[in-house]
Amino acid sequence: MTPSSPHHETVREKGPIRTCVGCGQKAAPGEMVRLVVGEEGFAPDLGGKFPGRGVWIHPRRECVDTACRRGGFSRALRREVRVDPRALRSAIRAAYEARIAGLLASARRIRALALGTDASLEALESGEASLVIFAQDAAGRRFDLERLAKKIDCDVLVHGDKAGLGTLLGRAEVGVVTITDARLAHAVTESVVRVAALSEVG
Ligand SMILES: [Zn+2]
Repeated sequence: MTPSSPHHETVREKGPIRTCVGCGQKAAPGEMVRLVVGEEGFAPDLGGKFPGRGVWIHPRRECVDTACRRGGFSRALRREVRVDPRALRSAIRAAYEARIAGLLASARRIRALALGTDASLEALESGEASLVIFAQDAAGRRFDLERLAKKIDCDVLVHGDKAGLGTLLGRAEVGVVTITDARLAHAVTESVVRVAALSEVG
């Protein structure tokens, strides 16, 4: 599934424009990820605030692979650098996974998180749900939840499996989790979309 992200296209904030080291297109920093140059290659800097030299790249598989294959990193740094695309993709993915875990923790802290089927159903029925996230292997009453979400126009995403979603939430397994805070839901969606774009073969 490829979730859409309508917010990116409609709102374009003013500010500095960066060039993707992969595809060479220009875009706002919010649409890209900064990579800082360290001793051992590149490290993702999602906040864009680490000191030191950095390059910008779209967080998607094709741009990472192109930058590695066609010497984009070497050109940007004006010296020969070798970057393993798989390692870099997984490092960026891991950074977004960590951000998702942080956002879910924030949601839990402000009581904007409904964990499991019953709590999610309740959040949907009360109209408080902003985003429902299913694990790929979620079963149970998933279909009922999806149908209800669709009916009230609540966003739905699929991310990882039950064990992976559980890891993000400090549990053994989680099949479904619902966020009731719109701002956090939007931020989680952005990161989930980026993890998917880094994994896709394209
Ligand atoms: Zn790009």
